[in-house]
Amino acid sequence: MSKKTLPDIEKDFAQWYQEVIYEAELVDKSPIRGCFVIRPYGTSLWENIKAILDKRIKETGHQNAMFPLFIPQSFISKEAEHVEGFSPELAIVTHAGGKELEEPLVVRPTSETMIHYMFAKWIRSWRDLPLKINQWANVVRWEMRPRAFLRTTEFFWQEGHTAHETAQEAEQEAKMMLQEYVNLAQDYLAVPVIAGVKSESEKFPGADKTFTFEALMPDGKAVQMGTSHIISRNFAKVFGMSYQNREGQLDFPYLTSWGATSRLIGATVMMHGDAKGLVLPPKIAPTQVVIIPIFKKGVDNAAVLEVAETVKEKLSKEMSVFVDDDEAKTPGAKFYKWELKGVPVRIEIGPRDIKEGKVVVADRLGESKEAVALDEVATYVQKLLADMQKALFEAASQKVKDQWKKAEKLASFSKDLAEKGGFYQTGWCRNPECEKELKKYQATTRCLLEEKTFEKCFHCDQDSISDVLVAKSY
Ligand SMILES: [Zn+2]
Repeated sequence: MSKKTLPDIEKDFAQWYQEVIYEAELVDKSPIRGCFVIRPYGTSLWENIKAILDKRIKETGHQNAMFPLFIPQSFISKEAEHVEGFSPELAIVTHAGGKELEEPLVVRPTSETMIHYMFAKWIRSWRDLPLKINQWANVVRWEMRPRAFLRTTEFFWQEGHTAHETAQEAEQEAKMMLQEYVNLAQDYLAVPVIAGVKSESEKFPGADKTFTFEALMPDGKAVQMGTSHIISRNFAKVFGMSYQNREGQLDFPYLTSWGATSRLIGATVMMHGDAKGLVLPPKIAPTQVVIIPIFKKGVDNAAVLEVAETVKEKLSKEMSVFVDDDEAKTPGAKFYKWELKGVPVRIEIGPRDIKEGKVVVADRLGESKEAVALDEVATYVQKLLADMQKALFEAASQKVKDQWKKAEKLASFSKDLAEKGGFYQTGWCRNPECEKELKKYQATTRCLLEEKTFEKCFHCDQDSISDVLVAKSY
């Protein structure tokens, strides 16, 4: 890793992001436009996030399964809204095995159709409900303006699909998983989010209702971090998902689906990064502590290395630790490297420290650097990691607060919206024509809010139904 100055995060946030993800070795470009290689460091980060979410998915009563990568094209066409929404983004296989296929196969953009086809086979009676399935997979949606982790042609995600006897149960399920996502974002990624319902024009193609959780990045643009849907019952009908209900009559189940993607990584990077590089929340960092033995030239460094290994052993029971014992690199170069990679805590061990029975512990935020006695180091680092996790969430919450404005009329906030970004809470009549006005400023409605602060719509003279959050987005 060569020492390279990152673009100024204050002046050119987009370029900073574009470079930090490569420099920190999270991703690399692949020969296919829009498809990125997730390098080992980025993969570890994703695996950590995945492990947390997977555990909760199972604890809330879902089972993992795996469905085919290919979907018969006719499946996608069965549901009108679904096909209309996804058509422009589909990758379609027309030839295989050396000849033209009888029916083209779509590389899955999402698996509703395939899973509903299977649900129709599996759901025969009310006793088969609820059916709660999750899949960890990669999906393909052709992307014209790719940006690593945020918008990519191929991306990694989980998609949950469930079927229920009643509409209430389906709604409870969609809301429960939304809450799981909110907890993941806030408690682990330290990214504050706002949860709400999408407008008619912004909802998932084929959903009756889409719940979303959105974060606001430091450059004033929103990121949709994941969604949870109440799927149209039309899906159950077109896929012939009839079953015998408790009254012995034929009925159709109520469906949900919910997904969160590797985009969570992009949002975490943008939310916390600084001039030196990534700042990873301790709870998801692949390496939580890096130990750097300070070697001196012309001396036997065995004692320093031995202490470094002892400290590693002490800490490894509770956290992930790496000893950077590369003798060819200076301590300065190592500090730079691990700061760039966002490792939360650094421990320096030099000959003088050993004599005093101490090590130097510093946090990635640059807020604390202390000499700590060897027998106290485990407790000290544990607390430092917890404090840092909390500090990151608090700092991020403050950033969002500073960029969240309440405003009555679009005319009064359109200039700031276009130039500075931010969340704008305003009133809306729910007419899609008024929503279209936002496009002039490259903005959209992000989610409907339950509050009602304003009497009138942000654009027309009609009454507002409830507040809505408006922003530009990734
Ligand atoms: Zn209006």
